Amino acid sequence: MTPLEELRHSASHILATALLRIYPDAKLDIGPPTDTGFYYDVDLDHKLTAEDLQKIEAEMKKVAEENQPFLRKEVSREEAVEIIKSRGQERYKLGRLADIPEGEKISFYQNGEFMDLCAGTHVRYSSKVKAFKLLSIAGAYHRGSEKNKQLQRIYGTAFPTKDELAAYLEQVEQAKHRDHRKLGKDLRLFVIDEDVGQGLILWTPNGSVIRQELQTFISEELRKQGYSQVFTPHIGKLELYKISGHFPYYKESQFTPVVENESLARILREGCSCAEMVVRLDAVSSHLAAQVNARTGTETITADRVKPDDQLLDGFMLKPMNCPHHIKIFSSQPHSYRDLPVRLAEFGTVYRWEQSGELNGMTRVRGFTQDDAHLFCTEDQVAQELLGCLSLVKIVLNTLGMSDYRVRVGLRDPDSNKYTGAKENWDKAEAACREAAKTLGVAFTEEPGEAAFYGPKIDFVVRDVIGREWQLGTVQVDYNLPIRFDLTYSGADNQPHRPVMIHRAPFGSMERFCGVLIEHFGGDFPVWLSPEQVRLVPISEKTLEYGREVLSLLKAAGVRATLDEHNDKLGAKIRRSEIEKIPYTLVLGGKEAETRAVSVRSRARGDEGTVGVEQFIAKVQEEIRLRTLSEKKKPA
Ligand SMILES: [Zn+2]
Ligand SMILES: [Zn+2]
Repeated sequence: MTPLEELRHSASHILATALLRIYPDAKLDIGPPTDTGFYYDVDLDHKLTAEDLQKIEAEMKKVAEENQPFLRKEVSREEAVEIIKSRGQERYKLGRLADIPEGEKISFYQNGEFMDLCAGTHVRYSSKVKAFKLLSIAGAYHRGSEKNKQLQRIYGTAFPTKDELAAYLEQVEQAKHRDHRKLGKDLRLFVIDEDVGQGLILWTPNGSVIRQELQTFISEELRKQGYSQVFTPHIGKLELYKISGHFPYYKESQFTPVVENESLARILREGCSCAEMVVRLDAVSSHLAAQVNARTGTETITADRVKPDDQLLDGFMLKPMNCPHHIKIFSSQPHSYRDLPVRLAEFGTVYRWEQSGELNGMTRVRGFTQDDAHLFCTEDQVAQELLGCLSLVKIVLNTLGMSDYRVRVGLRDPDSNKYTGAKENWDKAEAACREAAKTLGVAFTEEPGEAAFYGPKIDFVVRDVIGREWQLGTVQVDYNLPIRFDLTYSGADNQPHRPVMIHRAPFGSMERFCGVLIEHFGGDFPVWLSPEQVRLVPISEKTLEYGREVLSLLKAAGVRATLDEHNDKLGAKIRRSEIEKIPYTLVLGGKEAETRAVSVRSRARGDEGTVGVEQFIAKVQEEIRLRTLSEKKKPA
């Protein structure tokens, strides 16, 4: 354990100590450290409340102050059973003891009157744990299985110092206000409707503005970098994914194939069972198997999957990946080395089957639109193309004020055999990824064993304004799919050569990226991304006509603005604009109407005084054109 994990895990022992003082009947399961703290799972008839947590926390303080040493005791398996029974903890702890393999040491740790089956390690004295807090209670099934009893999981956190704890608690508090699910609802950015389906995002008009602005921005950068835009359908034949290898090997994470009515009627007439239907969907013709195996040079499709043609059942898949479609666009034309690289970009929508428990707002969904592109290049061009991908990411993230990010280079594990392709290709691709990451000028780590099975990859992890890390998208080098689809270009020697593919979706998906952006900005989007950029607030009916005039000027200038025609007091109108996080509110009184001026309130900077209408419009237009970030809000 790291020193921090040791501290947090010790805190979970202290939690158990305090808990048993208050609830001697509690049955303990396990109490490990986590990335952000610790928890202990307990079985207790009494349902714990927030007040109970306070009581337990107060008792924990006492245990810490008692300065109890953590003492290790190694015992035999029989002794361990005795200790567990003598403490009345056999319900879960005997099972946990049975998990320890024969021959491995069995140890208990004691602090004060409490003793727990544990391999360690811990801090030396309980007084070391002084900056901690219990946070929440949640239900958790024993061993994570719904078949088992649901226990109460008590979450807490601990830090080496009180200041670090306070900073973390502040971050948690901030995160609550920034939660994209809450803001998405308040600002009407997106909805998820049970009748449409879980994990399927409906982009409302406000959210669609943000997505469209982002897509326009990314597309502009892609054009500058020589990408070509393509569009492809949401489905593709099953056979396509049998060639690529996406089916049937990843079918747990895909939607079930769509079978044509005629084929379905035919197999029903034949009396085909459901199990047989699955086998037929997975099966391939001997022709296809021979083709793929010849290309890859191994038995990629095994003989047991081959069926006679009249037993094959074809269907369509909701596409889990855009690559095969883009490959087919590439291979529809002959290519010379002079045409390369070919860069095909699409905001391509894909569908993946996620367990319902895994779904989360916009960040874990079942249908999403990747900022996808596939680059087909020569081996010599890989390094240069990777650099292009990275520079694009840099431009976009910097524009969004996310300049704090790091890069992870996923390499193959030299001891594993799960990776396909020749070693020299891997060496070249890994060197290219490493070099590209170096030139980026940001921190990067190399992680052996984290490569995709067909090639190394570069992942982006951004840190948002409150210090949380978000994994965005990825850039991958691929030698595998060009072989499976037999892609070629003719080289300077007039001979056919194999191109290398680069898959890249640096922002992951529009859903995930927008979710992250909502939290990053806390709903306070810069002007260019704001669904509504300017709100006009007339002081009274008398200036309504002037308001309409200003509105049409703003609209003609391409600014997204509305006029508040409600019959409320001025204060209420301004407040409404505040709640809706509109970047500019223009107050229109008699004096403003007379002088063709507007009184400007910036959400970020407060009162900005009165300026002429044309002057204001020019300023906003410039802000939008330059995609300026709103300056930080003054403290209220
Ligand atoms: Zn322990
Ligand atoms: Zn791809």
